[in-house]
Amino acid sequence: MLNKISNLEKIARILEPDSSQRKQWNDKVINYTDQFLDELNDLNAYNEKSNNGIGLLDFPIKEDGTDMSTLLKLIKEEVDYPALNAASAGHLAYIPGGGVFPTALGDYLADIMNNYAGVFFASPGAVRMENLLVRWMCNIMGYPKTALGNLTSGGSIANLIAVVTARDVKGIKAKKVEQSVIYITEQVHHSIQKAIRIAGLGDAVLRSVPVDDRFRMDVDQLEKIIAEDLAEGLNPFLLIASAGTTDVGAIDPLDALADIAETNDMWFHIDAAYGGFFVLDKEINKAYKGIERSDSITIDPHKGLFLAYGTGAILIKNVEALENSHQYSASYMQDAVNDMYEPSPANLSPELTKHFRGMRMWLPLQLFGLSPFIAALSEKILLTRYFYEEIQKVGFEVGPYPELSVAIYRYVPESGDANEFNARLVENVRSEGRVFLSSTTIKGVFWIRIAILCFRSHKEIVDVCLEVLESERDKLLASK
Ligand SMILES: *Cc1c(COP(=O)(O)O)cnc(C)c1O
Repeated sequence: MLNKISNLEKIARILEPDSSQRKQWNDKVINYTDQFLDELNDLNAYNEKSNNGIGLLDFPIKEDGTDMSTLLKLIKEEVDYPALNAASAGHLAYIPGGGVFPTALGDYLADIMNNYAGVFFASPGAVRMENLLVRWMCNIMGYPKTALGNLTSGGSIANLIAVVTARDVKGIKAKKVEQSVIYITEQVHHSIQKAIRIAGLGDAVLRSVPVDDRFRMDVDQLEKIIAEDLAEGLNPFLLIASAGTTDVGAIDPLDALADIAETNDMWFHIDAAYGGFFVLDKEINKAYKGIERSDSITIDPHKGLFLAYGTGAILIKNVEALENSHQYSASYMQDAVNDMYEPSPANLSPELTKHFRGMRMWLPLQLFGLSPFIAALSEKILLTRYFYEEIQKVGFEVGPYPELSVAIYRYVPESGDANEFNARLVENVRSEGRVFLSSTTIKGVFWIRIAILCFRSHKEIVDVCLEVLESERDKLLASK
């Protein structure tokens, strides 16, 4: 047996590379990422012509390892090249973010130390760091010091945690589900509907409240619908608003909605996954009045703080409510139950062992300070307004004035189907490659969107976008 152990040890020790091996790998990876960043300005935002990563299949997982250079080449061609270059300044679709460099360093540190950020007992520093970040976000939203929440993998899980917490606080057990009512608008992010279903509320009554001409929830209509529901003996328990819709960046009338939620004793959740950090802009801030009156807020640092993907957050005013829905004790956790100093993330979310995401957020905020983040956010707002004006000058029709950094627009040709024309236009812009745009359909009308939130997107790329839209439009018109 001792012989066997010793032989196995020899092979197992491959898992701990020595310092020269580490240096070699580090150098190769750093060379590759440095080159990527140095060339980023000249790289496409979208590469249409690729084999979609199929080459990865030629490298099955096998007994022996492969050298780093081969793997980096594979990663470059099969992972980093195809389709969307999400780090690109030209990523102006969906909701971009970019991935500020120190996020990677934060992950590197967190991954080497492998800090156990789930429970205070194991890593009080990591847990304090995460809770400090959550409290900072609570504070910028105007929540009291007692509020807390959790760093999640993204906005979808944050919304799920909010819906589950609301369900439990309002006592929506199985028997009550069919009489219970949730209010949203058609503009709500689809992760909300997903969360409702996953939370076992699929049979609840879901009311889509009409929106005004700027796609914001119509308060009078909401009141009317609630009154009707109450008259029918239903149980309104959850109101979900958006502070920055994904489609157009609309901010619902939060203060008025808070009144209604209060009057009707409903949980008031605000999905600010995209729009949350714009609260840091002194001017935009006014539109967020009332956000502090909500019960929970979803906010995505991998959007508005430009972190690499994998960091969202749920903020909950009443931390006990969050804890009641998510804590659990097990006998093998008996050493770890001491939350005397700080609540443990494991008791505030569905996760136990988790990525120490606090480090990837804390490090960039500490290194840069807040002011470049705020400047970048304010810049994106102004760039969107600039785009909104310029695109009209070249004959495009626009949607509502952008409240945040998303605008919708389309070209209406003199003849032919406008929806079809714009669908082809957005495809051709993607094929061209320098900018990546997405589209949406609102009330049967096809709109092209621009979402400016990558920290790398400055005026230069907005001008490129305008130029590409105009020239691809002209080409399409000429080919008709
Ligand atoms: C992006 C987004 C979500 C989903 O967040 P993920 O981080 O992608 O899971 C939810 N709501 C809104 C408004 C969003 O923009």
